[in-house]
Amino acid sequence: MVEENTDELRRATYLHETGIHRTDKLFLTIMPTEQCNFRCVYCYESFLRGSMLPDIRKGLISFVEKKSKTINDYFVDWFGGEPLYLLGTYLLITFKYLFYSLLF
Ligand code: SF4
Repeated sequence: MVEENTDELRRATYLHETGIHRTDKLFLTIMPTEQCNFRCVYCYESFLRGSMLPDIRKGLISFVEKKSKTINDYFVDWFGGEPLYLLGTYLLITFKYLFYSLLF
């Protein structure tokens, strides 16, 4: 229960602002592919963008490598189409995260 006089919007804004400016934690939402073989009737994806280009993937890994020197925790959300469609990319990025997590 929230106290009656609590300013919930101010509290949520504070938590959001302090969260996004933290330098010791990294929050990422990664969309390696928009592709999917299921074609669910309720799906809103257009499937036009395809998959993450190799240069983007390299840039992402390079970004994580740089950040790993100052952060203590990673939080990664996978988003997008069917994960198994681009399994190699998921595994590559996941292992890179694990590697940097163990190294630094
Ligand atoms: S992306 Fe998700 S919702 Fe869309 S077709 Fe694939 S499984 Fe269904």
